[in-house]
Amino acid sequence: MKRIGRMAVLKGDGIGPEIMAEAIKVLVAVEQKFGFYLERQSWLIGGKAYDDMGHPFPEETRLVCENSDAILFGCIGGPKWADLPPKLTPERGALLPLRRDFRLSVNLRPIIVYPGLEKASSLKEHLVRDLDILVVRELTGGIYFAQPKKREGGSAIDTMVYSDWEIDQIAEVAFKEAQRRSGRVTSIDKANVLESSRLWRERVEEVSQKYPDVELTHLYVDNAAMQLVINPKQFDVLLCPNMFGDILSDLAAALTGSLGMLPSASLNPKSIFERRSFGMYEPAGGSAPDIAGQGIANPLAQILSLALMFRYSFGLEEPALSIENAVKQVIEEGFRTKDILSKGKLIIPVSTSKMGSEVAARI
Ligand code: NAD
Repeated sequence: MKRIGRMAVLKGDGIGPEIMAEAIKVLVAVEQKFGFYLERQSWLIGGKAYDDMGHPFPEETRLVCENSDAILFGCIGGPKWADLPPKLTPERGALLPLRRDFRLSVNLRPIIVYPGLEKASSLKEHLVRDLDILVVRELTGGIYFAQPKKREGGSAIDTMVYSDWEIDQIAEVAFKEAQRRSGRVTSIDKANVLESSRLWRERVEEVSQKYPDVELTHLYVDNAAMQLVINPKQFDVLLCPNMFGDILSDLAAALTGSLGMLPSASLNPKSIFERRSFGMYEPAGGSAPDIAGQGIANPLAQILSLALMFRYSFGLEEPALSIENAVKQVIEEGFRTKDILSKGKLIIPVSTSKMGSEVAARI
C-alpha cells in the first residue's frame, strides 16, 4: 500500500477517545478501499496530558504535530481541570497554542442538515431542509489575540485589531470556496460601530473585485444572527472575523440539531489553494462530560472531520466524498445516536460504536 502522509491523532478528554476510535475505524476502511495508508501517531493532549505529563500540551505532543501533515483532534477539557491556573487549563494551555503556533488562521465549518435529520433541528423542518452553509472564520486574529489584554484597577481591556493582510487572506479563502459552491459570500462585520470592521468591509470589497462571478453582500453581525434564525437557507458562505464567527457558527450549529454532527477544519494558509495545507480537524463540540463513557456520543462529527482532512490536507476528494456519502447513507437508513434520535418506524437507535461500524461498512 502507498503511504500518502503522516497524521497526529490526539484523542483528548471526555468523549474524545470514544469518537476517535470510530473515526479510526472509518479511516481503516478508507485505506483498504483506496489502497493507501496514513502513518499515524497517537499522543496525549488536554486534561489527560496534564494528569500524566504535567502539561496539557506536552513537548512530545508538539513534536508529533510538527512532524505530521495533519492533526485529527478529538476534544479536550472538563470540570476536573477547569480550576487550574489559566495557562494549564486544556483550552488555554493546549487549544490556543495549537492554533497560534501552527498558524491555523482559517477555520472552516460546514453547517449541513442531512436529509432525515430535519426533525432534530430547533427550527421548523422546511426552514432547514437541505441547509448547506460554509462558515469561513478568521481564527488567530481580532479581539481574542490582540494586545493589550489586561486588567487595570477596576477596568478590563481587550483589544480588537485587524490588519489588511489578515482580512485579505481569509477573504480569498471565502471567495474561492464560494466559487466551488453556489457563488455567494456574505461578509459579517459591525462597520456601523467598529473601526476594525470598517477596514474589514473595505478589504473584502477590494478582494471581491478579483471574483466577479461571486456575489458579495455585507451584513452587520446582529442582523446576521437574526437572519440565520429567520431564513438560514439564504446563506452560502459566511465570511466572519474571529469573535463574530465563533458566535454565529455555534448559532448555525444549533440549526442542525446536534453538535455531534458538525466537523471543522482549522488550516494554515500556506498551500491552502492547492488543498495541501497543514490542518487540524476536529468536531465543533467540546468533550461533553455529561455523556462521556456511556457509549452514546455521536461519532459523526469526528468521522466527517476525517473527510475534511482528506480534502484540505491531502487534496484527496474521492476518499472525502466516500466518507460523506457513507454518513449520508447511514442517516437515510435510519441509524441514530441518542442526540439525533426522533420518533419514526424506520429509526434504529445505535451506540457510538455501532454508528462507526455502520459508516465504515458503507465506505
Ligand atoms: P460541549 O460542547 O462538550 O457539549 C454541549 C452539549 O452537546 C452537551 O449536552 C453534550 O452532551 C452535547 N454534545 C457535544 N458533542 C456531542 C456528541 N458528539 N454527541 C452527542 N452529544 C454531544 O460543551 P460544554 O459542556 O460547554 O464543554 C465541555 C468541555 O469541553 C469544557 O471543558 C469546554 O471548555 C470544552 N470544550 C472543548 C472544545 C475543544 O476541545 N475544541 C470545544 C468546546 C468546548
